[in-house]
Amino acid sequence: MKTKSSHLETLAIHAGQVPDPTTGAITVPIYLTSTYVQDGPGEHKGFEYSRTQNPTRQALEGNIAALEGGRYGLAFASGCAATTTIFHMLRSGDHVVAGDDLYGGTYRIFERVMKQMGIEVTYVDPINAGAFAEAIRPTTKLVWTETPTNPLLKICDIAAVAEICKKRNVWLAVDNTFLTPMLQRPLDLGATMVVHSTTKYLNGHADVVGGVVVTSDEEVHERLRFLQNAIGAVPGAMDSFLVLRGTKTLAVRMERHVQNAQLVAPWLEAHPAVEKVIYPGLKSHPQAALAAKQMRGPGGMISFVIKSAKRPALERAREMLRATQLFACAESLGGVESLIEHPAIMTHASIPPANRAKLGISDGLIRISVGIEHIDDILADLQQAFERADA
Ligand SMILES: *Cc1c(COP(=O)(O)O)cnc(C)c1O
Repeated sequence: MKTKSSHLETLAIHAGQVPDPTTGAITVPIYLTSTYVQDGPGEHKGFEYSRTQNPTRQALEGNIAALEGGRYGLAFASGCAATTTIFHMLRSGDHVVAGDDLYGGTYRIFERVMKQMGIEVTYVDPINAGAFAEAIRPTTKLVWTETPTNPLLKICDIAAVAEICKKRNVWLAVDNTFLTPMLQRPLDLGATMVVHSTTKYLNGHADVVGGVVVTSDEEVHERLRFLQNAIGAVPGAMDSFLVLRGTKTLAVRMERHVQNAQLVAPWLEAHPAVEKVIYPGLKSHPQAALAAKQMRGPGGMISFVIKSAKRPALERAREMLRATQLFACAESLGGVESLIEHPAIMTHASIPPANRAKLGISDGLIRISVGIEHIDDILADLQQAFERADA
């Protein structure tokens, strides 16, 4: 990229990419190759083997690093692969403090994979920065949080937690999947690492599973780069190409996701079938002020609780999810199409029921990923689904 712009809309399209040196192709080619021919032993052009380096993947890594305002990006085969690779920087006996409202798959890595490797995780309420400070021990190496959290959309004060982590010499990793760098940049607020499931908004078209980690810390980057190659959970060139294609339209997609969600949330709040709406852009969100300070927009994810009526909340929710026609009943989020899901049955089923109840992931809780379809169609579909849930 020749442009020196610092505007995210411009970086999204150009950062990490140069016209192909052999043909001038404006779009980064899909380098489907496992190996690279060397002029003589060790005489190569910076590419030896595609687990280690691949030009398409490298373009993606540079692109997302620029968007997050970080020096280094590393791409992985999934968000979970990115998380697992970060955890391999730790060793048996190390301790981690994590927010207690996490993507179900992340919780599963912590509890069922890392625990048996001797890494202990303490969970704290992410809305309370002081709780992170209290939970940090001499063996703590890493603090992990999502914000907004999944599915309860709690906001963690990144700058406050980053300050605590710096004082205690602990890394802070922030999962920024729900907002993307268009709406929040954790590195600017002091985080050590930003993690993404690129499967969601960054790719945005529901046709890839991928992950990425961005950092400006050279030591952390070198260790992660070593682990990326050593463990080998890397994305293929085709997937890297698709995510890179997705980020080009990220700015306009996020704008529309936010615009639509800002209309859906108050509509739900006024709906007689709805007990409660959780959306950081609503005045009723207990952390609306922090959200407005730390985020450039409230995002496209909304959670709400359906009331018990003729049917108990669980049955009513189940019927509603069967009845939507535009909203697809599916896990995942962040694609152009609207999705609806039931956390207790679907994405968060791996969390024990007692923990779910304690967190507030109730039977009536429904999570929607507001797509970029026309707002009238989105609202009409929700309305008819509410009606059919009671029929
Ligand atoms: C989906 C998701 C992940 C895991 O990513 P995969 O690409 O599915 O492995 C991690 N964090 C959040 C917030 C997610 O939504």
